[in-house]
Amino acid sequence: MTLAEIRAWYYKNRNDHWYNSQLPLDERLMGMLWGKARMVVKRFLIGEQSISPQIAQGYEEVIRQVENREIIWKKANNAHKSADKNSLMYLKAPAVPIKRNKIHSDKNFTIFDRCASCKGNQWLPVEVDGKRLYVCYSCLPPSQYRSFGGVAINESLITRYMEEHLCLNQKFSEKDITSGILTSASTATSARTGMINPK
Ligand SMILES: [Zn+2]
Repeated sequence: MTLAEIRAWYYKNRNDHWYNSQLPLDERLMGMLWGKARMVVKRFLIGEQSISPQIAQGYEEVIRQVENREIIWKKANNAHKSADKNSLMYLKAPAVPIKRNKIHSDKNFTIFDRCASCKGNQWLPVEVDGKRLYVCYSCLPPSQYRSFGGVAINESLITRYMEEHLCLNQKFSEKDITSGILTSASTATSARTGMINPK
């Protein structure tokens, strides 16, 4: 990615409905993931500060992990607090993700699954006639829900995934995160056994 592409990724997704409802972005969070101060991120993003291609690679890697769902975080009430390290989770994405129809109701669905039509992995929960469905955001954005009688559900699938696979009431330390204790396996079964090490 060029520096311009990195900036474009941030500004596009920062105002994007899916990101806002599932993985809200902000400079503090991106800086924390990138290992840079918030002001550095901000000045870089608005073009006040240039960075070397080597340093940009670190940001590009963060973007790759975010898009691949290898990093997820719990949505905070205050967007600026979404960088709270206690709500971060590092995951191992499956090498071969499961394909799903752009609208499906499979209860075993995970945030790694890909849309069979567009290969995307941005899903939103939708209710149709009291039944819960998962809908591809790229193929069927919320503006099209009316065409199939869908009603948007205000819920973060990412947060739900975290709550199902890790005990969020337990506070993790920064050391736990960097030492990979929070790294969860790709399947639900092993992820459950991969709960936080109490040591
Ligand atoms: Zn799709």
